[in-house]
Amino acid sequence: MSTADGDAPLLSVEGLSKTYVSRPGFVARMAGTPDTRVQAVSDVSLQIGRGEILGLIGESGCGKSTLGRTILRLHEPTTGRVTFDGTDVTALDPAAMKAMRRRMQIIFQDPYASLNPRRTVGDIIGLPLRLHRLATSEAELRDRVTEIVERVGLKARAVDLYPHQFSGGQRQRIGIARALVSHPEFIVCDEPVSALDVSIQAQIVQLLLDLKRDMGLTYLFISHDISVIGYMADRVAVMYLGEIVEQGPVERVLSDPRHPYTQSLMSAVPEVHPQGPHKRGRVRLTGDLPSPLNPPSGCKFHTRCPLAIDACRKVTPATEGVGPGHSAACHRLSERLSLLDPDDAPAAP
Ligand code: SF4
Repeated sequence: MSTADGDAPLLSVEGLSKTYVSRPGFVARMAGTPDTRVQAVSDVSLQIGRGEILGLIGESGCGKSTLGRTILRLHEPTTGRVTFDGTDVTALDPAAMKAMRRRMQIIFQDPYASLNPRRTVGDIIGLPLRLHRLATSEAELRDRVTEIVERVGLKARAVDLYPHQFSGGQRQRIGIARALVSHPEFIVCDEPVSALDVSIQAQIVQLLLDLKRDMGLTYLFISHDISVIGYMADRVAVMYLGEIVEQGPVERVLSDPRHPYTQSLMSAVPEVHPQGPHKRGRVRLTGDLPSPLNPPSGCKFHTRCPLAIDACRKVTPATEGVGPGHSAACHRLSERLSLLDPDDAPAAP
């Protein structure tokens, strides 16, 4: 997997997995009840070039947020490695990791839940400057906070107000200011517009694009909305039940999705990549996302895939290259089937 321009990636993730282990209570343990294991992220590898936006798409509960947080070591990885600008982040001791956090930040989905209601906006945004000792005086700290507050589109007087005095969109601007005040290079944007009204979403998306351009940022942009990913991202990774099932340049993946799951996502949003005058199939997946407590064998998508064959239930498909920088994991790639083509789509039951 290479980045868009072939340079060394800013961020490289190799074989990253995150398993949560839940231990039963004492009595249940004595009775022989085993630990419960949930593999939220499974053997993920990806790279993000400097200045690039990698979109990460998938249904709610598929592990997108866990992957973003594990990359930042907000959750400790179970296995695998994260390399940022040549440094193995997964090997850093707590002090070195704290210093690294200045360069790697996160914007959360729910701006209100992530802002301390008892602190002023100035205190909230100034906290990273205090933690990393990035201001030499209170006056400098206030100047830097005011500068970033205005840069994200709020009035300077916002620094003396409290989060409840702002609308949802304004709160997300506060969350963005907090992430940016320490001048990071890489940001995990964890569904930053999902909780906002549609009219506000477009403003925040444009703000994030402007900030990326002006501050030389690199984003992992997590979303369940493929139209937002299509608008923002340079490359896209598609996640299903903790695994990346397809990855590549956004225009290639959205115009020629090779994995049946990506095709099902695409079929719901014809306006992103109109397929011309011919009729496009509408893929309706049956069933919910399976529980990661008890994931399906073989290809994890087989319980919902209209193209599943016997091998899919038994053998995990390998990831294969299907074009420049474009890869997917499916046993039937060579058949070039498309659920979006009514000729290939299986007949409705
Ligand atoms: Fe569907 Fe089989 Fe491909 Fe999985 S491997 S996506 S079940 S056809």
